[in-house]
Parts: sequence; C-alpha cells; structure tokens
Amino acid sequence: MRVSQQLTKTLREAPRDSEGGNQELLVRGGFVRQLTSGVYSYLPLGNRVIRKISQIVREEMDRAGGQEISMPVIQPKDIWDKRPASGPTRSEAMGDVLFKLKDRKGRDMVLGPTHEEVVTILTAEFARSYRDLPQLIYQIQTKLRDEPRPRGGLLRVREFIMKDLYSFDADYDGMDVSYRKMADAYRAIFTRSGLRFIVIQADSGAIGGKDSQEFLAITEAGEDDAMMCDTCDYAANREKAEFVRTELPREPEAALEEVYTPDCKSISDLAAFLQVPEAKTIKSVCYVAGGKMVMALVRGDLEINEVKLSNMLYRAGINAADMHLATPEELTQAGIVAGYTSPLGKDERVFIVADTSLKLGNNFVAGANRVDYHVKNVNYPRDFRVDEWEDIASAYTGATCVRCGGTLRAIRGSEVGHIFKLGTKYSELFDATYLDAEGAAHPMLMGCYGIGVGRIMATLVEQSHDEKGIIWPFSVAPYSVALVGLDLEKEENRQTAEQLYADLQAAGIEVIYDDRAETAGVKFNDADLLGYPIRAVISKRSLKNGGVEIKLRSQRESRVVPLADAVGVMQDEIRRGMASA
Ligand SMILES: [Zn+2]
Repeated sequence: MRVSQQLTKTLREAPRDSEGGNQELLVRGGFVRQLTSGVYSYLPLGNRVIRKISQIVREEMDRAGGQEISMPVIQPKDIWDKRPASGPTRSEAMGDVLFKLKDRKGRDMVLGPTHEEVVTILTAEFARSYRDLPQLIYQIQTKLRDEPRPRGGLLRVREFIMKDLYSFDADYDGMDVSYRKMADAYRAIFTRSGLRFIVIQADSGAIGGKDSQEFLAITEAGEDDAMMCDTCDYAANREKAEFVRTELPREPEAALEEVYTPDCKSISDLAAFLQVPEAKTIKSVCYVAGGKMVMALVRGDLEINEVKLSNMLYRAGINAADMHLATPEELTQAGIVAGYTSPLGKDERVFIVADTSLKLGNNFVAGANRVDYHVKNVNYPRDFRVDEWEDIASAYTGATCVRCGGTLRAIRGSEVGHIFKLGTKYSELFDATYLDAEGAAHPMLMGCYGIGVGRIMATLVEQSHDEKGIIWPFSVAPYSVALVGLDLEKEENRQTAEQLYADLQAAGIEVIYDDRAETAGVKFNDADLLGYPIRAVISKRSLKNGGVEIKLRSQRESRVVPLADAVGVMQDEIRRGMASA
C-alpha cells in the first residue's frame, strides 16, 4: 500500500470529543471512526488489525476442533421469550440492552447480542445421536447490545465484533473436556495477540450457568475489577470474589436501647458519634426487585455487592432484572424511614437478605426507623428475621483469601474473553436432545465461549503505546514494515525506494510505503503514531551511510544495513517478533 493513495489521514491533534487512551490513538491514526454513540466504522488500517486478530482466533478455534458458521444478526423475539422452569426469560434478563424492533408484519424481532438460542435450534436439527457429539460450533460476527453508557473508545460499544463458540456434549465429562479445550485455546489466542492478561473466576451474570472464567486484559482503562491473591493463584471477578470475614469478639447480649443520633446519616458518622467500630453497626439498604421490597444487610465495615445480591434474588425466584435502590416514594409506602432503615419489626412483605458477616459479632447498632435515632444491642435472631443468609458483600484490598489466608488486592482490567459451562439450560428450553446407545433421549450439555475481537484491539492499544503513539505487536500490526522514502525528488532515491518496496512485497512482507511529498518529521511522526513494528528509511543520508536505516518501533536505536541485506534483515526481525508474542 502507498500512503499517498490511502483513504485515511492522521490527525495531528486529539479530536475534540477525545476520551484519551485507545479511542484517541485509534481515531487520530485513522483506524476507526465513530458514526454514533458506541457505533464505529473500521477503516482500512483498523480493519487489517481486526482481520489479523480474527485469523488468530480462527486458527485456534479450528485447532481445537471448532467448525465455523455464520448465524443471522436479526432474530425473531419469541426465541428470547421462552420461559425456563425457573427464573426470567432471556429477554427479561437482558432488559433494555436487547435491541428490539418490529418487521413490516408487526412481528417482534431482536438484533442478536449473542446466539445461544439460534445455535441450539440449529444443532438440535443435526446432532441426533451420541455419535454426533461433541460439536464445537463458532462464528466471528457482529453483535449488538444497547449499552446504557458506551465509552472508552472500543472498550464499551453497542455494535461489536465477537467470536462466539458453543459446545454440545453428551455428558458432564464431555462438557468439561470441551471447556478445558477452550480455556487452553483462549490462553493461546491472547498470548499470540501479545496481550497481558489474567484468568479469573467470574460471575456468570444474566446468561446463567455453572463454572465460568473470565480473561481480563490488564489495563487501568478497563471497567472490570478483579481481586487477586498475593500468595496463591486465586483470582476472581470483584462480583464473585470470596473472602474471609473477620470475627468480632462476642459480648453478652444486652438489652435493646434507642439512642439519639443527630445528623448521623452515614455509617462513619454514626460510628464516630457512638464511638464504636464501623464493624459494630448494621448497614441496611433497601431495593425493589420484581415488585418486592428487599432489605440487604451487611456489617458496617463492608459494602453491599449488588451483583451478588441480584444473583441471590434470582435463586430465590425473584426477578432482579429491574432491581434498583428503593425510591423515597417506595420507602414511604412501605413505612420505611430513609437514612434510618432498620431490620427490626419487619413483616414478611419485606424480603430480608443478610450477609454472613452479621453472624460474626453481636450487640450491633442498627437504624431505629425514626429520624435521628438508632438502636443499640441489636442481635439475631432475638431482634430481627432473616429470609436468606448469603455472601452479598464486596471483597476489598486487604481482605483475607479464602483459599490460603493470603491477602487480596484489586486489579483493573477489561474483559476480552469469557467462558461458561451452561449445562442443559438451553438444550432443555429448545428440546435439544440426543439418543444414547440404548435409544434413550437426553438433553445435550452446552458451554459457550466468547471473545471480543474489537476489544482485543482496544486493550492492546491501552497496554502498548508511548507518547508518540501505538506500538503494535508484530502478530496483529496492520503492516509489519513502514517504508519511509525521503528526498524522493531525486530520481535515484525514488528508484531505490520503489525497488525495495517491490522486493519486500515479493518476499511476502506486509509493507506500507510512505511515498508522499512530506517532510521527514511528518512521515516519522505518522509511522510512530500508527505503530508499525519496523520502520525502514531510504534517504540521501541512509544511502550515503551504506543503505537502509532500520528501526524497531519498540526500540530507540536504528542501524543502517546494506540494501542487498535489507529484506533478509526485516524477515528475521518479523520472525523474531512473531515468536516473542
Ligand atoms: Zn490465596
């Protein structure tokens, strides 16, 4: 490719709507353009990166036995409305994230955010016998999710390219084998892409399922929090991370005592006012979910984790898709005084969920359900009822690891891959059964495995850039070599550069040739911004010094190699660069 003929141009300055990070670099470099909130075009350079990542993904999926198909983006909504034996339908669980529309006949349709339904229907048609299993079916395709807050450039978008694979097995052992195959393939993909990542135990969220692992690209720009043990290899999503709750010294149970606590609306105010540790208080927060008032209780030194809470509610048969903090109106209607919420004296119209930390202490301070008053010496079960005891508190930096007693710390990243064991959830819903050797029918065991292809591109940029621009790993760079021709008005220079350009192409090297009538500064800045792994310069000076000046984007020093050796030297660098990913 010649830069003079390229569609895109670089921007010298950050665009006005810049969000910094990957968004700024990818927009300035002309890799992508935003059409509307969270919806991007991939321009030639960006598209080349996406193709490279997709190819790595495809090779590893095929190596693991995957078969590539392509499923429709547009789907009838009724397959999303199938009601399982318990819990919400898929469209209820996804809520407004699901793009919905009507066709000309008034039939409800959705734009696919994922494809469990479609692939289960398809596989059920063809895999009828145990001999037809296992099946690993995948696609690399555009998905749509109406995210409430698209942000972070390509990190959170509404239209995105994803690889999704679905496994179908005859039994649990088979499902475990497929799951392990995918876990290995995912490690290979992220390693080959040059990404720094960790594997964590994850919450399976609205999709439902059993085991699940998340692959997190480590970046401060990400919006996923994970907790890692500093001693063992325990690592889990913050929404899932378990930790050991500290035990408080037990005291003899004392009598309830209402105390005047003016201006104590927060736990820290209250603890300071009464001169007790925060851990001696009960934090009670009211939510409404599925039309029910839910009171969540944790010890005052901990925070409520809403994901753990909503998962618990689903398990208790309460649809938590619309879970929200109770509004002042909802509180008043339930006779609850905001800021002084109390578990005392609640009837069964309030569903009370308590964190296990409240079993590790007594004589707590709780709200009195009366403005400016709290109650001391609150004890379970003497003083209040609990419907469910559960882990509903967030792990924190400094918490104790459940596995080894080590210390947990928070780490930030962006989810680039997620694998789940689904079990029979979808095969039961869509009657995807197979016949065993005796002719008896069983539901297939499924797993699903996603990779955000665009997100790999964005997180690579977050992880690998400097003040001048992007530093692409060799494996996914849009071109391996930027050939920069200078002093091209001189015929000899032009001919030499053209010849090297032709030789590189003939050797199968992906090269972009900057043949523009621009200054050296402009061309060097562009090559640095765009992040090509190798820069090769032909100029008056390089020729005088004996040939071609070659510099790696990741290094400071350049060297001059004779023209006759240039192609071979670059081939060696590419080979080395590919191997080191
Ligand atoms: Zn540990």
